[in-house]
Amino acid sequence: MVRTVTQTTQMMQTQTVLGQMIARVADDEQYRRWAGQVERAGHCVRPVQLAGSAVTVNTGTGQVEATYTSRDEPGGVLLVACKDRRESVCPPCAARYRADAWHVFAGGVTRADREDDDGDGGQASGGSPMVLATFTAPSFGAVHAARDGKVCRAARRGGRERTCEHGRPLSCPARHAAGDGMVGAPLCVDCADLAGQVLWNAHVGELWRRTVIYVYRALAALAPAVGGQPVTVRGVRQLLRLSYAKVAEFQKRGVVHLHVLARLDGVCPDDPDRVVPAPAWAGTDLLTAALMHAAGRVSVALPVVDARTLAVARWGTQLDVRPVAPRQVDAARVAGYLAKYATKTVSDSVSGLPASRPADGGADLAQTRTLPAHVAALTQTVRRLARLATCRTLRLGRHVHTLGFRGHVTSKSRRYSTTFAALRQARRAWRLAQRHREDDPWAHGTGPDSAEPDGARAVVGDWRIAGIGYRTLGDRVWAEVLGREHRQARQAQRLGLAT
Ligand SMILES: [Zn+2]
Ligand SMILES: [Zn+2]
Ligand SMILES: [Zn+2]
Repeated sequence: MVRTVTQTTQMMQTQTVLGQMIARVADDEQYRRWAGQVERAGHCVRPVQLAGSAVTVNTGTGQVEATYTSRDEPGGVLLVACKDRRESVCPPCAARYRADAWHVFAGGVTRADREDDDGDGGQASGGSPMVLATFTAPSFGAVHAARDGKVCRAARRGGRERTCEHGRPLSCPARHAAGDGMVGAPLCVDCADLAGQVLWNAHVGELWRRTVIYVYRALAALAPAVGGQPVTVRGVRQLLRLSYAKVAEFQKRGVVHLHVLARLDGVCPDDPDRVVPAPAWAGTDLLTAALMHAAGRVSVALPVVDARTLAVARWGTQLDVRPVAPRQVDAARVAGYLAKYATKTVSDSVSGLPASRPADGGADLAQTRTLPAHVAALTQTVRRLARLATCRTLRLGRHVHTLGFRGHVTSKSRRYSTTFAALRQARRAWRLAQRHREDDPWAHGTGPDSAEPDGARAVVGDWRIAGIGYRTLGDRVWAEVLGREHRQARQAQRLGLAT
């Protein structure tokens, strides 16, 4: 039998991985500890290896209550989840993030209502009005589109084929599938305002910040008609508050959309931190009208590049606003919708881009063969703009791989709902309560990501990163197997509960 070099190499690799896997289970006790670490790291596919030690000190007596060192662990390291939110980087950690994001989003949908139930908001039931709004970007030139089997861009009937000033056709007879690499590409890359698109991405955060200000102006302008009395912008802020959670989503054409869960709360004069329902006159119609009003008027002046580049950033004309009822079923649906976007990256929508900032900042991205031409042109545009004096403060050189977008994918206003930090805290507290093993650092709160267990004890740790990922491919395979078993067991448990 003749084997190629590749086949032989593959066989050798398989044998090596098998060897590594066998070595891992050779010692029962070591395997048990290692598997315990993997489970605690949530079956993360590229955990952080930590080396170091920690002590738990009783702050009252000054006595050391527990010590822990990673030297006792298999390989002398402790595995900690990478906690990456991106599905494409670490599916198990992204799943956990998605669950957290779900709670953050859903918490806000039912919050005002719930507070109404147990509080003394003094309002009729129904809570605060809430909507799901999608803020889109304007057009930066015609692009190829997937239209459910229909023609991309029909030619003018009967007339001569029209072309742009660069001699390229203004129509496209293709019927693109959704996964077609052409989708999102401009019909003519020279006609498209790529610089304008990059600058728009870079300013979408500022555009949203100003939109919130404009919403209050719009509320002041619209409130008299529904509230019966004239009110100033200052005055309206003493009556109403816009709370929101938002997620940025990349379109195939490489531009950001914002999905915003917006809620109109009342303001408690004695306790501004309390979330109270909006007054009865401030309903869904007022919130919708205020968002529409603000979106149509807000703008951000962009740095001057050249005469044909977009000078002022505004929202696109397609503003979609839908009411969200404060019911569990609506909360679950809307939260699920936003949480799905929260774990995505630009690389999930725009093919060829890396999920993280490349080591060279993206200088070589345009040379990557997997990058569609229009995406390569966009990365080159970001780099060109980064060198301009007028764009220096934008630090675009750091945002080549996000096509100029500089913000967080997920964010929320302070009083929208619970925070990710609060959820992590709750999880740690639960974990502390679950663990009784003597050798478990988390049992004593000495784990590297442990919170201070209570006021009476302090944890002093000294940790360094010894590596990223699993030490061997064999370990990585085991971690995947354990993760799969864990998910299956949970699923079986759920099904068992359901029947
Ligand atoms: Zn991970
Ligand atoms: Zn087309
Ligand atoms: Zn053209």
